[in-house]
Amino acid sequence: MSDLISLTLTGLRDRLAAGEVSARAAVDACLARIQATEPALSALITVDADAARARADELDAAGYDPAKPLWGVPLAIKDALTTKGLRTTCASKILDNFTPFYDAEAVARLRAAGAVIVGKANMDEFAMGSSTENSAYQLTRNPWDAERIPGGSSGGSAASVTARQCFGALGTDTGGSIRQPASLCGCVGLKPSYGRVSRYGLVAYGSSLDQIGPLTRTVEDAAALLAVIAGPDAKDSTCADRPVDDYAAALAARPDLSGTTIGLPVEFWGQGLDGEVDERLRAAVDTARGLGAKTVEVSLPHSKYAIAAYYIVAMAEASSNLARFDGVRYGVRDAGAEELVDMYARSRSAGFGDEVQRRIMIGTYVLSAGYYDAYYRKAAQVRRLIRDDFAAALAQCDVLAGPVSPVPAWKIGAMTDDPLQMYLMDIFTISLNLAGLPGISIPAGLGATSGMPVGLQLMGRAFDEAGLLAVANTLFKALPDAGLPRAVA
Ligand code: GLN
Repeated sequence: MSDLISLTLTGLRDRLAAGEVSARAAVDACLARIQATEPALSALITVDADAARARADELDAAGYDPAKPLWGVPLAIKDALTTKGLRTTCASKILDNFTPFYDAEAVARLRAAGAVIVGKANMDEFAMGSSTENSAYQLTRNPWDAERIPGGSSGGSAASVTARQCFGALGTDTGGSIRQPASLCGCVGLKPSYGRVSRYGLVAYGSSLDQIGPLTRTVEDAAALLAVIAGPDAKDSTCADRPVDDYAAALAARPDLSGTTIGLPVEFWGQGLDGEVDERLRAAVDTARGLGAKTVEVSLPHSKYAIAAYYIVAMAEASSNLARFDGVRYGVRDAGAEELVDMYARSRSAGFGDEVQRRIMIGTYVLSAGYYDAYYRKAAQVRRLIRDDFAAALAQCDVLAGPVSPVPAWKIGAMTDDPLQMYLMDIFTISLNLAGLPGISIPAGLGATSGMPVGLQLMGRAFDEAGLLAVANTLFKALPDAGLPRAVA
């Protein structure tokens, strides 16, 4: 393995800036690593080798530009984000032939900052799932154990970053899809506050929940990517018109955790948590105490309703968002239909996978006249109570800490016949999306029984990514580094 690949994103960035490494060498190192590990992982739906090399050569020919904070840095992008001239499938057959004519805003900002896109990462179809098994294209494997899932829905992004195919990736998180695969693969995954990053060009799943964010090897790397993609955007009316903090400065200002209070929600630390996960996470909290943090017990009393409320809101929004895939404007159209309505039905039946169809049907049902009050309105009310719980808890501490996933990465196929069981895996991540707050998963070592990565979740106040990243960075650096994942060593 090239020693370039063992650098972090910020480590590479500094070598590129010093002229010690060319953009082309960085891209070539990633492409070689992709070639070596993709047969085992299948993390990427599309590898854009020629364009990446050409872009790197262009950067090298123009010379290093200090105005571009990601000059020459190779990245992967979840296939839910549009990329100009580069196929974007959302892991669905219905977008099999879709090549966008514009970049998502987050992608455009990365490119403008000098980043080079090497590929589009696999995911659950339309980001619906927790294991990446719902992709219509391929099964992505966990870099620690090829028999296990990488988590989802941003499983391709997490596997790619962890296996060192790229120096960072973008994912999206509607109910945990950045944090959970980061936890199960052993990398860092940050879901920003709702409205911190423009959703322009993100294929919408649950528009009031979706956020784009980085998956990286370190917290410092996550801060470097967020600094580029965050900030107001007139093209997304839900993107907040708030200035972006200096994340790098916030990290540097925090040598230890003295003066930091970490809240431990009682509902997150007990029932339903796997023994080896519990053990690793308690050790991580002890490490935080060793760094000077104080811990307090807090409560999120309505979290028991979070799964029910989330799946109603998410499916309702999905059923509405996915109406645009009708065989007319995008993607796959059935050729055999004799009239319009039949063409819609046939195109959608052939283009959408089972999980997507299930969610469209449930989502349509909960929004239908006569059921709206019983389901959607109730879920919206519960959502408000969950938000209030977080506000009350975060008034007593600086950040909250808890698990990301109740169990480590499970075996491929273990839950594919039981969607409800799979939904339950999201118990510790979805309430944060309902509340719109930022959260991060950081690796807390390997489980004693499974030998698989376990992530700790830290959750912060709205738009306080700077404070959250600072605490996460200090703790991250004190926790064990698991090193190169076994299945791709
Ligand atoms: N697993 C959750 C779902 O299926 C979350 C997915 C996501 O965050 N995109 O909806």
